[in-house]
Formats: sequence, structure tokens, C-alpha cells
Amino acid sequence: MIRPILKYGDTTLHQKAADVPSINPVIERLIDDMIDTMYAAPGVGLAAPQIGVPFRIFVIDVSVGRDPESLIVMVNPEFVSRDGMQLEEEGCLSVPGFEATVVRPMHAVVKGLDRSGREHQREGTGLLARAFQHEMDHLDGRLFIDHLRGIKRDVIVRRIRKLSRAGKW
Ligand SMILES: [Zn+2]
Repeated sequence: MIRPILKYGDTTLHQKAADVPSINPVIERLIDDMIDTMYAAPGVGLAAPQIGVPFRIFVIDVSVGRDPESLIVMVNPEFVSRDGMQLEEEGCLSVPGFEATVVRPMHAVVKGLDRSGREHQREGTGLLARAFQHEMDHLDGRLFIDHLRGIKRDVIVRRIRKLSRAGKW
């Protein structure tokens, strides 16, 4: 089931998410909904807080559904390692219409549970490493614009407030 994606300003997006205590049918359904919602958007990743559920779960598919092998589900993820640096334009389904250049690791290894509760580890370079960091940030209540400094961030936040006042956010 496709669920509505929350936008910048909704409190769930700006708070730290909690560990999933155990994988049960409710969590499995939530993961299915996250995958449906990510593909429908379409996006390369989605974190549970983006659909209003403050749990530490994210889904990523850098092929956006073209390659079934590239779908990654991470429950209670943590970084094993991060290194290097990349600077690329980035956007977010919760901040539609805005993009900015964000510094991210070039390479990242993440471990967590898969949808059946088994531990797994995935390694990413380039876009996948960027997606790991972006989704992990969501679980800590951080959006990509929170990485921007001063004026750059202020300009985006001011434009969002304006859209919001006009009922267009
Ligand atoms: Zn995002």
C-alpha cells in the first residue's frame, strides 16, 4: 500500500527514530508499504519516519525497481565503516522541488537486519553510499538541508515557509 510521504516541517521527520524491538507481521507490512511508496514516488530510498513511523528502518533501490537484486531493506542499521568523500546534488522525497550539493562518504558499509530478521551487511560506493548516509540521517531526524550552511539553508527554509503559508506544501 502506498502511504503519504511527510514533508519538511512534520515533527516525525525531525526526531530520532527508535529501534525496532522485533520483526512481526506489522513490521513486515510496514516494510512492504515502504517499498511500494518508494517505487511509486519514484525514489531511490525511503526511511520509515518519512511515512510517519518513527522506527529505524530504511529501504533503498538505486535501480528504482529495474533490478530486483538491488533492493535493500535495513532494520536497525548501523555503519560498519565510512570513508572517502563525494560532493553531489541531492534531493529528498520529503523536500520536493529542492536540491543542493551535500558532502557524503564515497564508500560505506552498513549492517542491520533484513526483512526476515537475519543480520546482513551491504557495501556501497558512489550513489549507494550516498543513499545509505541520506537514509541513516532520516533515522536520526536529519534532512539533507540540515547539512547546508547559513544562507543556502535559510533560502530553502524560507521558500518552504512561503509555500506552506500559501497552502502549497
Ligand atoms: Zn530523504
